[in-house]
Amino acid sequence: MNKEDLFNQYSKNLELVSDKIIDQDRIIKSYICPICLKLFTSWKDLTIEHIPPKSVGWKKRVLTCKSCNNTQGGQLDSQLPLVLNNKAFFKKKPNTSIDTTFHLAGYRSDGVTKISSSGELNFHFDSSRTSPKNNKLIKGLLVSNNSFAINAKLKLGNRGKAILSIIRSGYLWAFADLGYAFLFNPNLNSYRNMILRNDYNSFLKGAVIIGDFNKTFEGVNIITDDTYKSWLIIFEVITPHHSELVGVNLPGSNSNSNNKVTSFRQFINSSKSEKYNISNVETNGMLLDDNLSSIPYTCWLFNE
Ligand SMILES: [Zn+2]
Repeated sequence: MNKEDLFNQYSKNLELVSDKIIDQDRIIKSYICPICLKLFTSWKDLTIEHIPPKSVGWKKRVLTCKSCNNTQGGQLDSQLPLVLNNKAFFKKKPNTSIDTTFHLAGYRSDGVTKISSSGELNFHFDSSRTSPKNNKLIKGLLVSNNSFAINAKLKLGNRGKAILSIIRSGYLWAFADLGYAFLFNPNLNSYRNMILRNDYNSFLKGAVIIGDFNKTFEGVNIITDDTYKSWLIIFEVITPHHSELVGVNLPGSNSNSNNKVTSFRQFINSSKSEKYNISNVETNGMLLDDNLSSIPYTCWLFNE
């Protein structure tokens, strides 16, 4: 689907949903950016957003405004493949590497630290990224009989930003499948603010669970356990050396749902033995069906 098709599909969904669940006039031929909630009347002001980011194997597309896509999108998403790559490296997966700044007896050289195909740790000094003067001095050191220290500073990805990128993707995935009936939920404000400010809030760390999911649950799920009832979006993040399934837990629109999400990790730990009480939500056709489109909002109201 191109930008215009996406715009038309979600503006139709907005029309159906605004009519039923928000106290205002029907919103027609418009698109509300799912992150900053600004309203746009032309697809030309919007950009395609890949969910999860292209660099980790995108599956879905949705529109966000240029500002949301460029400013926080790019900054967060660049960290996710780095952090996944770091994981593979520290598990000593062959042929993984991390960009490194070396200091050999005080002389700086840039390069990579690599796990070789036989699992050994190798330092590669990249002469093209090192000053000619230092190249010469380092070469001299390496052939001399002197002992010297090598200091290696590995450029690791920012873990907080990577987790925030996962939360952002889970949130956008839920919007892509469930539409505006998912989005019009004040319990999601703290998540939106965190994404908007590009500011990782450790309070919400429990919203992301890494691994240990079954691939059949990929997509939108509801945790059916009465106490912890909430959305759980499961998707795969893939880099050449590492892939895993991640779960993003998001509150429903009932008034006490938000509190439950913060104790989500506790729930996951307590239910480890019997796996998670989750069920996959069938979302096909939900966006444009007059009767189904408001369900992602109304389904929570019976649980007050
Ligand atoms: Zn926006």
